[in-house]
Amino acid sequence: MGFRPITFLSQWPLKMVLTIPFLVQVISVVGITNYLSFKNGQATANDLASQLRHELTTRIVQQLQETVERPHIINQMNATALAQQDIDVVTGKGEHQLWQQAVVFPSTNLIYCANESDGAFLGVGAAINGQQDTLNIQVANEQTDRYFHYYSIDAVGQRSQLYTTGHKPFDPRNRPWYVAAKAKQQPTWSDIYLDFDTSRPTITASTPIYDRETQELSGVCATDLILSRELNRFLGNLDISSSGIAFIMEPSSLMIASSTQEPMTSQQSRSRIRLAAQDSQNPLIRETTTYLNKRYNGLDQVKSDHLDMRLEGQRFYLQVVRFQDQRDLDWIVVLVVPEHDFMARIHANTRLTIWLSATALLFSLVIGLAITHGLSQSLLQLSAMAKNIARAEWDKAIELDRSDAIGDLSRSLMMMATQLRNSFTTLEQRIEERTKELLQVNQELEQMARTDGLTQTANRGYFDYYLEVEWKRLARSQRPLSLILCDVDYFKAYNDTYGHQAGDRCLQHIAQALLQTIQRPADLVARYGGEEFAIVLSDTDTDGAVYVAKRIRKILRSLPLTADFPVEKPLTVSMGITTLIPMANYTPQDLIEASDQALYAAKAKGRDRYCVLNPSEASSA
Ligand code: GH3
Ligand code: MG
Ligand code: MG
Repeated sequence: MGFRPITFLSQWPLKMVLTIPFLVQVISVVGITNYLSFKNGQATANDLASQLRHELTTRIVQQLQETVERPHIINQMNATALAQQDIDVVTGKGEHQLWQQAVVFPSTNLIYCANESDGAFLGVGAAINGQQDTLNIQVANEQTDRYFHYYSIDAVGQRSQLYTTGHKPFDPRNRPWYVAAKAKQQPTWSDIYLDFDTSRPTITASTPIYDRETQELSGVCATDLILSRELNRFLGNLDISSSGIAFIMEPSSLMIASSTQEPMTSQQSRSRIRLAAQDSQNPLIRETTTYLNKRYNGLDQVKSDHLDMRLEGQRFYLQVVRFQDQRDLDWIVVLVVPEHDFMARIHANTRLTIWLSATALLFSLVIGLAITHGLSQSLLQLSAMAKNIARAEWDKAIELDRSDAIGDLSRSLMMMATQLRNSFTTLEQRIEERTKELLQVNQELEQMARTDGLTQTANRGYFDYYLEVEWKRLARSQRPLSLILCDVDYFKAYNDTYGHQAGDRCLQHIAQALLQTIQRPADLVARYGGEEFAIVLSDTDTDGAVYVAKRIRKILRSLPLTADFPVEKPLTVSMGITTLIPMANYTPQDLIEASDQALYAAKAKGRDRYCVLNPSEASSA
């Protein structure tokens, strides 16, 4: 046998059957809705986070490309001008162009060129006091004995006065930027170093210039770029997320720029050194660097990728870009966004949803329970009503005050109860009537069965029965029982004279007379046969019987003579009387026989008289 939910449910009380499926439904719907809403939110957050990371890193990379391309474009322009002799490093011709470039691109620290032939140097850049917005012209050549001469510049970019000089001779051809360009024979980058004035990570882009005819190196143009100046501002202005960060470092872990605005250098004993990512004040930069180092087995193995980082139970979205250019620039750009920044709203949302759901759940529970309670109460009332009707307690059926199907049912039950009551009452009345009728008919039948049709006295059958009953009754109380047998004298003659019908009427008159003579309820007059009657006198001794016999004789004599009862002389009867206390050695038959003999004796003695004979004498008579 398999599991049958309907049978299973039918074992429960009605209240539970109505309530539990309802509860299960509400709770599961609310639960599933909450779960789906949370999952959906999470998926959306992940999606958004992924989009944001991607977009942000694309913007960072674009900015980087622009930033690292710019000094090379500047160099290219200056190299071209130098080759066309629009710029003369020794005389300062064309230095105005360098000034313009420095003004337009403030993240450049110094824009300069140097000759191969005489080591002359001409540059425009931040004044040596480090003030970014104050530019000066820096010159070093054979005329200055290779000492730097610093000239201030007026508002329109013209060289004005010499305001200071350098402390030691300077030959650009020994400088790393010059040597590198010369060696590479193409535009190249220096390593990142700390700028002397600003102590900020700086890189130099340098481009070798070749003589158009001889193809010999004629000089080098270069631009110093303070990396953190432009990139820090750019990263800082990126709208990442409330606690997301972005930073750029070299594979050596030395920092280039960061959105956190912390200095990219640190003090070590007397000198400033570049900040390594794992020494950053920002824990997220430190942890991320450690994570990447571990994951890729060294930062130089880091590849462009998006990763999930777990830190103290919190999840971080990581986007890493390995940024490289064709001039051997190789940096790592890292974007870190905590999942929390995205999930915070989702969690708040989920909490709100749970609260709302819980309130709705509670509300619907209360309503549902109230409805099921009302419903089950009504059903129980209906059931009680039906039971009362079954017990025929009609008055206990009450109409439920409802306008729905249950109310209809209660009204139908009430109608049914009324109809049933009416039917039962009618039925009971009819049964009562029928019973009465039956009893009456029965009585009549009984009467008929024990009555003689002609004389309306008891018939012979009832006489036998009654005598037996009285015999037994008096045997118990040992009281006397008398019997008078009575025969009409010369009745044959009467018949012959007046005819049989008159004879019948005569018998009826005699019977009425006999019935009048007996007074006790236990006495009985019966037609013994033909014109013979028997009179049973219970609890009556011989004297009583004699008294009755005498009364019979007397009444017969006084019978009125009418048209239907013609007689010439009064009719007489002969009677045989026997009295007996019923005993074991006698039977009712003995009583009858003795009476019969007494009757015979009365006839023999001349009729119209009574004779008394006891059974003990009867046998001898
Ligand atoms: P006795 O004095 O010796 O009794 O004379 P009796 O003529 O009465 O003689 P018996 O008793 O032998 O006669 C009985 C008669 O009673 C016979 C019959 O004509 C008459 N009889 C018996 N039963 C009825 C009856 O039901 N109706 C009528 N009309 N006559 C009856
Ligand atoms: Mg007779
Ligand atoms: Mg007779």
